[in-house]
Parts: sequence; C-alpha cells; structure tokens
Amino acid sequence: MIERVISSVLDENSYIVKIDGTVYVIDPGKGAAEFVKKRYGNEEVFVLLTHSHSDHLIDLPELKIKAIYMHPEERSVFENPELNFVNYFGMEQSQLSKLKEFLTDNPGEHWKVIHTPGHTPGSCCYLLCNRYLFAGDTLFERSIGRTDLPGGDPEKMENTLRLLKSFLENNPELVIFPGHGPSTTAARNLKENPFFNF
Ligand SMILES: [Zn+2]
Ligand SMILES: [Zn+2]
Repeated sequence: MIERVISSVLDENSYIVKIDGTVYVIDPGKGAAEFVKKRYGNEEVFVLLTHSHSDHLIDLPELKIKAIYMHPEERSVFENPELNFVNYFGMEQSQLSKLKEFLTDNPGEHWKVIHTPGHTPGSCCYLLCNRYLFAGDTLFERSIGRTDLPGGDPEKMENTLRLLKSFLENNPELVIFPGHGPSTTAARNLKENPFFNF
C-alpha cells in the first residue's frame, strides 16, 4: 500500500509504504509524522531519503525511527546547514546531527537505489518491486529538479537524465512518484516531459 501526504510547506510529497509488516517513509515532509502516528501508532519506521533538502525531512525528528537510508554521497549535504537549508524551515542542524546514528547503508529488501546526482550530489530514486519509482526532486511530472542550488550540478543532471531515459524506455509501465506534484507513468513522462526531448 502506497499513501501520499502533501505538505503545507512547499507542497512536497511524503510517501508512506507498508510492505511485509514494515512501514517505510520516503521523505518525511511536514505532516508525515502525524499521518504515520494516526495510521500506524507507535510503530518504528524505516526512512528513505531521496536527498536531504530540509523541506523533505522536516518531520524526521518526530518519527520513531528504525533506520534511515540515504545515499553515501548525500552525507555532505545532510551535515551542512548551508546545503540542506535546515534554518529556512525552523529546524536546527543539531536535530539532524543527532540522527546520524540511525543512518544505514542498506535500503532494505524490496528496494533498489538508483543514484541520480544533479539536484544534489547524493540524490537518488528508489525503485520498489520493479514497479514504482520514488523520484524525489530529480524528476517531476513535466519537469526536473533545479541544479542551481549549492551542491547542484547541471552536468551530472545531464548524465542522470540519459540514464533515466533509457531506464524509463525499458520500463514504460513504471509508476513515478515525484517529490512535488502528481504521479505519472514512465511512458507518459517520456512523452510529456520536455527534458527528455533529446
Ligand atoms: Zn530538493
Ligand atoms: Zn523539494
């Protein structure tokens, strides 16, 4: 079961997935913790971060956490308030720093990690059961994530788009759940997203 919580802050999407008895939260933006508490009580959750911009992890300190997966190259952003913008969202870096003990290198079974740098160095997409792609701020319904923020890299984004284009072409039925905005499918995204026009 995949459920979406849309935040009141920057309209970022949090996704809550329960599979084989484990609750996964992809990008705990504002409202995710309250949703998890209502739906699953005090259950410990596994958090998957597509990247560590703070709008996508405002509720991280509120969750009961089993483990947090983040791509290793994202640690520089997670640890640096100038890069993750914690202060813009009423958070403090110490709140994130004390969660470091939960960081793990294993996203758990059912998940594949696709490293998609460009928006940030350790941005990644999570593939669930080869059918659902949680794309964070890398890919949106008709657009892509910006590369002009500190830590962004337009050249890396170009490589990422090449990689994603062939991946989507090979998996046209894939459902894509972006970090902002509505979901789409691989086939539709390839057709409608001008950034795949190359
Ligand atoms: Zn972002
Ligand atoms: Zn975002």
